[in-house]
Amino acid sequence: MNGQINEIRELICVNCPMGCRLQVAVSQGQVKTVKGNVCARGERYARDEVLRPMRMVTSLIVIPGSREPLSVKTRTAIPKDLIFACLQQIRACKVSSPVRMGDVILPNVLGTGVDVIATRDLPELPCHHGQEPS
Ligand code: SF4
Repeated sequence: MNGQINEIRELICVNCPMGCRLQVAVSQGQVKTVKGNVCARGERYARDEVLRPMRMVTSLIVIPGSREPLSVKTRTAIPKDLIFACLQQIRACKVSSPVRMGDVILPNVLGTGVDVIATRDLPELPCHHGQEPS
């Protein structure tokens, strides 16, 4: 209970091509020390990764009538533990053409404040029988 180190986590910093190997001493859920980083960004990365890991999410949405799915991504990283729920929301999403790259497909996904956006254009598709025109 007095700051004893419970765990040393090994991480690789992904902030630049150097890929420094970091050793993060964790005690009672708190980061005590970070070693192996060449710069301050490595320490920040290690602390974030241990305390609140974040990830970008990318996915594809099937568009009826389009040969290619629409690729989407979160505008910035979201908490790692929300990835699965985010992918489910993306999967349930109904998108109609046309879409421009950068258009918001899902605003404020899961209340994170982060939008899911299109990463390519989707041209206007011809209307198919039985399908609502967009
Ligand atoms: S610690 Fe600094 S130098 Fe090392 S990989 Fe991270 S950003 Fe690059």
